[in-house]
Amino acid sequence: MLAYVLHRYGGADGIDLREVPAPTPGPGEVLIQVRAAGLNPIDFKTRDGKLRPILRYRLPQILGGEVAGVVAACGAGVDRLREGDRVFARLDKRRLGGFAEQVACRQELIARVPDGLDLVPAAGLPLAGLTALQALRDQLHAGPGVRLFVPGGAGGVGTLAIQIAKALGAEVITTASPRGEALVRRLGADEVIDYTRERFEDRVSGVDGALDLVGGDTLARAFAVVKRGGLVVSIAGVPEPTTAREDMQAGLGLQALFWAASFGLRAKARRHGVRYRYLFMRPDGDDLAELARMNEAGALEVVVDRVLPFAEIAAAMAHLESGRAKGKVIVRMGEA
Ligand code: NAP
Repeated sequence: MLAYVLHRYGGADGIDLREVPAPTPGPGEVLIQVRAAGLNPIDFKTRDGKLRPILRYRLPQILGGEVAGVVAACGAGVDRLREGDRVFARLDKRRLGGFAEQVACRQELIARVPDGLDLVPAAGLPLAGLTALQALRDQLHAGPGVRLFVPGGAGGVGTLAIQIAKALGAEVITTASPRGEALVRRLGADEVIDYTRERFEDRVSGVDGALDLVGGDTLARAFAVVKRGGLVVSIAGVPEPTTAREDMQAGLGLQALFWAASFGLRAKARRHGVRYRYLFMRPDGDDLAELARMNEAGALEVVVDRVLPFAEIAAAMAHLESGRAKGKVIVRMGEA
């Protein structure tokens, strides 16, 4: 089968499309005939070797963390799915393999795609959707009466985060450039700040929590807009000890490394009387089924920036890497 294979860390010339043997599903696993795969910044960060301290692969490695497709075969003991089911999944972080014509995946990570959702947009939901759901529901307790600041609303995660926060009943203030403003308003943002013209801290204060999707200077400034006792969750900043302990089940070594790396950010958070949490999302078929229900109920649309044929995945990746995508970038395999 054709797959997009990383054979050397360090940049775009270390990865290419090539023929590899198709996987076979082990016990409890399902073989998915991939019809479309979503791209995410973690793909090029992995390719460049930036995540090697926390996610190390033995090369060659097929990249790709989320897919939608049809169940082609079931391994022994599979009881949740059947051949022919339309499914999607955020794949196991240690195995990946989504940029390929077929991938094997544990059944617990898979959910059925709603009837009304095509497989191409479906491929853009798992990774970004689970990230947003787990941050908003489990960490920030989004719900009626909760005001949240979500900088970076127009990207892959942001377009889903705005809708999920609204579906849970929260009020959402976001940032976007003029290129993304109409989009984030349409998705339900209550207030939009043009980050290219205004400093958000001049407009926002006393929110219950923040979900930072941008990192860097945006994260460093976000502490100032959250009320005392509130929480800033980042998915784009610097990991801290809880990330290692709870999200990665890692030992004291990694906890100490993240403690040191996040020292300055945690000190800044303390000065503002708020807490800081870096969240590393978790693949989960039950949570994905919850997102599927939100989509079926009409509360969660997958915004697609661009769809390219699998043969053009390098161009799709370069586009995502520009940092300007509005919604999800997806490649499609065969006739999706
Ligand atoms: P993306 O789709 O590439 O985001 C692109 C969007 O970001 C563009 O629409 C851009 O808008 C906007 N943007 C760029 N700079 C901005 C700024 N300073 N303020 C506001 N908006 C800005 O990326 P994504 O998939 O949403 O991912 C976002 C980040 O989360 C990435 O760093 C990714 O690695 C991380 N992530 C982490 C996890 C985790 O588990 N920790 C999971 C998923 C993603 P304009 O073009 O209008 O500027």
